[in-house]
Amino acid sequence: MHTSETAMAAGPGPAAIPPLVPLPQQRHLETEIPGPRSRAMMVDRRAQVSNGFGAQLPVFIERADGGILLDVDGNRIIDLASGLGPTSLGASNARVRERLVAQLDRFTHTCFMTTEYQSFVDVCRWLNEHTPGDYEKRTALFTTGAEGNENAAKIARFVTGRSKFLAFDGAYHGRTHLTMSLTSKAKPYKTGFGPFSRDVVHAPVPTSPRSSADDHGPSLARVREILIENDPSTFAGIIIEPILGEAGCMLPIPGFLAGLREIADEYGILLIADEVQSGMVRTGKVWAIEHEGVVPDLLVAAKALANGMPLSSVTGPAEIMDAIHSAGLGGTYAGNPLSCEAALAVFEQIDAGRVLEQASEMGEIAAEMLRPLLGTGVGVIDVRGRGGMIGIEFGDEETLEPAPARARAVTEYCHANGVLALTNGVHESVIRLLPPVVMEPALFRDALQVIIDGIRSVGAERG
Ligand code: PMP
Repeated sequence: MHTSETAMAAGPGPAAIPPLVPLPQQRHLETEIPGPRSRAMMVDRRAQVSNGFGAQLPVFIERADGGILLDVDGNRIIDLASGLGPTSLGASNARVRERLVAQLDRFTHTCFMTTEYQSFVDVCRWLNEHTPGDYEKRTALFTTGAEGNENAAKIARFVTGRSKFLAFDGAYHGRTHLTMSLTSKAKPYKTGFGPFSRDVVHAPVPTSPRSSADDHGPSLARVREILIENDPSTFAGIIIEPILGEAGCMLPIPGFLAGLREIADEYGILLIADEVQSGMVRTGKVWAIEHEGVVPDLLVAAKALANGMPLSSVTGPAEIMDAIHSAGLGGTYAGNPLSCEAALAVFEQIDAGRVLEQASEMGEIAAEMLRPLLGTGVGVIDVRGRGGMIGIEFGDEETLEPAPARARAVTEYCHANGVLALTNGVHESVIRLLPPVVMEPALFRDALQVIIDGIRSVGAERG
């Protein structure tokens, strides 16, 4: 009998490699940022790499560990981005490294569709057991978040025999053709890359600060109207991020996700939770949708699933996932063995318990330090989030008019002072924080203090 516990215990023991020297967990500026070495390397980067890749902070990183990024000029920058979410447990996580090194000694790739390996099965088992829904499940593994969503859409089409998807304003689901169509924001993600799928319709999603807790009735009525206008019997799926990350860490108001569940059931549509950014520890629960007590039909994970190694998953009821014909799903690198080992290391740490608490504690620290800024005339109109997924929105305190220049000026202040904070949101007026949840509280407080100093020094006059 192979229970999940015995399967996990069968993983590699500590590898015979010297431990990495931990990086000091303090902010330190050796040069201006970017420093001279990063600036010189950037010249070469521009000469070699497609301009299509942006660079939010043009510094080159030598090492990263815990909450610190060490750059090539010797600066220690506080990491509030986790590589856009994946390195929740730190970019030099000891257990991830042990499992990766041990796996490197065995093999790097066979292709799971060709010959099998146990770690793929163990990752699927853990996800089947730890996703919402008290029924038998199956999981399929892929490589990127976009690929996870693309496959969820394939599965939804296959089992419903329908083609359309309802997605939401502000949504981000990836850069492949269908996921670009599901994504709502045109620039920079879609401009010039169309035409897009005509099978995707977008609806508004009610979030703070523009909707209040009792707005879910009218918002759900609007969703229903949009479905009816487009014939609900042609919809395969409703896809939503339980917290809309790229939209600026927007939380649908309470009750909205539960209402979508009811609408999906009423019309025989699958509810797909894109937990690529919000899932796996970040919000203080394994999945953000658990905060709302809603059970999706399909749940897509990626990013923090393998702490920075490329891996994504789609999990759903056995009868849906097994309906697909053999070889209908897959991919050469799908569920790569190194990525699977990294995921198993993440699961061990979640099962040990502390990391979920750490994420919740981050949310408490952020609320304690940032919420007092509201209504003080510094142009912060919302502080929101769950656990270590936090949005600070800038705008006019009276009209809520977005203030992207102010958000940008604050991030520039942060960068100059050794804190990697990034702007995002539909209007680029939000600073969205995704720190590694293992960051020491004192370091996180230091980073938040730099943000607060930045907000105060930029002032409310920048629009
Ligand atoms: N869905 C969500 C919610 C995301 O945040 C992202 C990445 N930002 C994706 C999908 C796409 O993931 P990937 O970049 O791994 O394709």
